[in-house]
Amino acid sequence: MNTVNQDRWSIQDALFQYQVKNWSDGYFSINEKGNICASAQKSFNEHIDLSDIIDEMKKRSIGFPCVIRFHDILRSQVKKLNELFSSTITQANFNGKYWGVYPIKVNQLREVVDEIVDIGSDYHYGLEAGSKAELMAALTFNTTNESLTILNGYKDKEYMKLSILGKKMGKNTVVVIEKLSEIYTLIEVVNQEQDCPMIGVRVKLSSKSGGKWAKSSGEKAKFGLTTSEVLELIDILNEKDLLHKLNLFHFHVGSQIPDIRSIKECINEGARIFCELKKLGAALTFFDVGGGVGLNYDGSRSNCNSSTNYTLEDYVADVVYILKDICDSTKTEHPHIVTETGRAISAYHSCVVTNVFGSIKNTKLQNIDTSIKPHEHRLVKFLKELATELNHSNYQDIYNDASLAKEDALSAFKLGVMDLKQKSLCERLFWNICSKIINMTKNEKFVPSQINKLRFEHADKYLCNFSVFQSTPDSWAISQILPIVPIRRLNEPPTNHVTLADITCDSDGAISNFLSPRGHKSTLLAHELNPNEDYLIGIFLTGAYQDIMGDMHNLFGRLNEVHVFSDKEDGFYIEEIIKGQTSADVLKIMQYNPQNMCDKIKKSLDKKVKTGDIKPKTAVAFTDFYEEIIHKYTYLN
Ligand SMILES: *Cc1c(COP(=O)(O)O)cnc(C)c1O
Repeated sequence: MNTVNQDRWSIQDALFQYQVKNWSDGYFSINEKGNICASAQKSFNEHIDLSDIIDEMKKRSIGFPCVIRFHDILRSQVKKLNELFSSTITQANFNGKYWGVYPIKVNQLREVVDEIVDIGSDYHYGLEAGSKAELMAALTFNTTNESLTILNGYKDKEYMKLSILGKKMGKNTVVVIEKLSEIYTLIEVVNQEQDCPMIGVRVKLSSKSGGKWAKSSGEKAKFGLTTSEVLELIDILNEKDLLHKLNLFHFHVGSQIPDIRSIKECINEGARIFCELKKLGAALTFFDVGGGVGLNYDGSRSNCNSSTNYTLEDYVADVVYILKDICDSTKTEHPHIVTETGRAISAYHSCVVTNVFGSIKNTKLQNIDTSIKPHEHRLVKFLKELATELNHSNYQDIYNDASLAKEDALSAFKLGVMDLKQKSLCERLFWNICSKIINMTKNEKFVPSQINKLRFEHADKYLCNFSVFQSTPDSWAISQILPIVPIRRLNEPPTNHVTLADITCDSDGAISNFLSPRGHKSTLLAHELNPNEDYLIGIFLTGAYQDIMGDMHNLFGRLNEVHVFSDKEDGFYIEEIIKGQTSADVLKIMQYNPQNMCDKIKKSLDKKVKTGDIKPKTAVAFTDFYEEIIHKYTYLN
């Protein structure tokens, strides 16, 4: 019945506790030293010990928090997706090919896109942009001549003209019409430039995606044309003699789709519309199912919002077979398949490592004399009795009575019938009862919900050197679970139930939603902190959206980054270090001039020297200190 068997804790227990096999898809594990390791190149049969990477970072004076990127994982995911499609297509005797694109909004970092494009060139893998700036970036990458460059999002003339620039460079650009009026803008640009890119159309499906992004689907969605608008589009294109340019059929119903059933329904509905449009003479050759493949962030393999009840294999099979069935039954030529899979490509490749620099301990069990004194307040006496009677068979009752008594004590104090000392004694007695209940139920899997809440309220807070708003925005904004695991000491039993607090001055800057083998928990099981030893916590699967949606709350800014490649001989090497932002960097973004700031500080101190309030030596030392710090990393040193 114990959740944690203290004496016989093994690596297997750690793997189970943190559900590593379920969320990591084979990319992360725990080695015999009890450290988290990454296995980027399965063929090498070598695992990269994250602790070794951190030692190497230390040698090079790279501080925490930091992002570690595994470029091999990125490559491996691109390869996996493309090879899954090509093998499934062969198996299914499907006549089209796979023509995937990476939506760069998921992670626009140049090095990330570079890596994806590089490995993707084996598969004519292309890029998708959702804004002018993203398209301008996308056009600079060396994708192959066959690969697609897809333009999504709302568009103006400039954005559309960039597609023609792309075409002149030899790229297969596709302008996806997201709302009907865009076609008139496009026709204007086409007339001006006497050249036309491929045209795509995004349709609204009635089927719903489910999950946190359900609003991207259904008839009320922000993007896409209704069926009648698509018919109107076809008429307009026909009239302008451009119908032969309508080559791509597209829908995208949301991200992190939890349930395979909604995917099946969307493919089904999409394929039906596609076949009908073909009948109407549209030259559609690409069937673009958008993104949406979810990750098993919480390891539960369920259809809850932080998970999926399917694998990438299941997804690919559904896309290919459902499309094939419907095309065959309607005697429609098989199209090429495009996906805009983003999250599932880039999420695995990076993690954030932060150091715990302290903890806020909650009141621990105190020695309180529970013998009853005649002069004591009735409520004090009552709480002392409860404390004495408490045992494993009555803890719920005792807890209920004690909670009431504590509330009554507060009322009594407010009414002036209890003094501060007695009130404080009541509170201490109450917390002692709570501590005892938590201790006596520590190893139990199932406790009443109130006691569970008590555990949470009583949990220690580990203070972590990072910002939730910069590094894990989805955990703050949409309660997305991310796998969080201590980096080292996993061969020791973790004994502390803790929550994590970040260093922003915001009470929301905390994480209190964690995966566990038995569903989501408000606390993380972690180790006791050892004095003089860094306790390191890894936040995994942060490579999609988290990196780039992070904001400047409290001006912490971007993290130090190391880019890691696996290596046959040395296990790994750090290919690149990108220093995180300094205070000067983030202040400049907010329109400050760091040099002026230093001057101002100097002037103020000089004034104080003149008036004799401080010594010249002190002024110089502090001016230098300010100048030094402004050019250093924003996080705790
Ligand atoms: C965001 C987005 C994607 C990527 O979705 P994922 O869920 O990350 O795969 C693809 N296509 C469009 C149009 C998008 O807006």
